[in-house]
Amino acid sequence: MRAVDAGSLWLDGGAMFGVVPKPLWARRAPADERNRIPLAMRCLLVETDQANVLIDMGLGNKESDKFRSIYGVSNEGAPTRLESSLSGLGVTPSDIDVVVATHLHFDHAGGGTVRDPDGTVRPAFPRARYVVCRGEYDFARLDNERVRASYIPANFEPLAAAGCLDLVEGGSEVVPGVRMESTPGHTPHHHSIRVDLGGDELLFLADLVPTMAHLPLAWIMGYDVEPMVTLESKRAILTRAAAEGWWLAFEHDPFVAWGRAVAPPAGGPGCAVTDVRDQPLVPEAERGETTGVV
Ligand SMILES: [Zn+2]
Repeated sequence: MRAVDAGSLWLDGGAMFGVVPKPLWARRAPADERNRIPLAMRCLLVETDQANVLIDMGLGNKESDKFRSIYGVSNEGAPTRLESSLSGLGVTPSDIDVVVATHLHFDHAGGGTVRDPDGTVRPAFPRARYVVCRGEYDFARLDNERVRASYIPANFEPLAAAGCLDLVEGGSEVVPGVRMESTPGHTPHHHSIRVDLGGDELLFLADLVPTMAHLPLAWIMGYDVEPMVTLESKRAILTRAAAEGWWLAFEHDPFVAWGRAVAPPAGGPGCAVTDVRDQPLVPEAERGETTGVV
């Protein structure tokens, strides 16, 4: 189980923290002169006995210079940081058997396809089946004004055309040891991904809790389409994570890859995190482990 650096981007701090006043969030996430805060795009590679599973895909290389400037995208590589990071871990795109999308927003699903120099858009992982919740796929294709900016058809239509899209029901097991946990609210069919580490559990939170700063139950992104649903998703799964001592992985935290869930110091629902690991990638000495590498 290894973290995979897929680059970074900058998003509006106000949008990232919803109704939380700036004097509160700015202490934890200082903004630049355009009111943006830095965010990682950190995927997860899970190597089980049966399959190499990549969880989320970063942003890809298909967007314009204007788009990349607006969002402060930094993910250069061959062809993107994602593939370069995988290469650094000894993994080629052809080694990936399964790609799982937590949802289809561009900063999570864009890297599932790449644009070649001749303009052709193709699946970035040629042997992989791409597992996506059917409800999320249908929602992404609505072309609704509120969410249109986050869903870019070029990120998922070419996968459908290539026949590698595997639409599943919510809560599905992807492969033994890797399960989609329904955590709606950010989008109606958003999923976090639970990984069995062999005696330990890790939950890849995705946009349910994008950074450590979003752990308080009410610290919910303005992007979320159903914030009250997010609240209940967080209450349920973070309380369980604390009770069972799960590791929690933060896809967007610029500094913290993961930490161990514990009960909040003041008691009550939700969780705090201890034993945080700052390194974005697992050290080389630990490569090759399939369990417990957190
Ligand atoms: Zn999202």
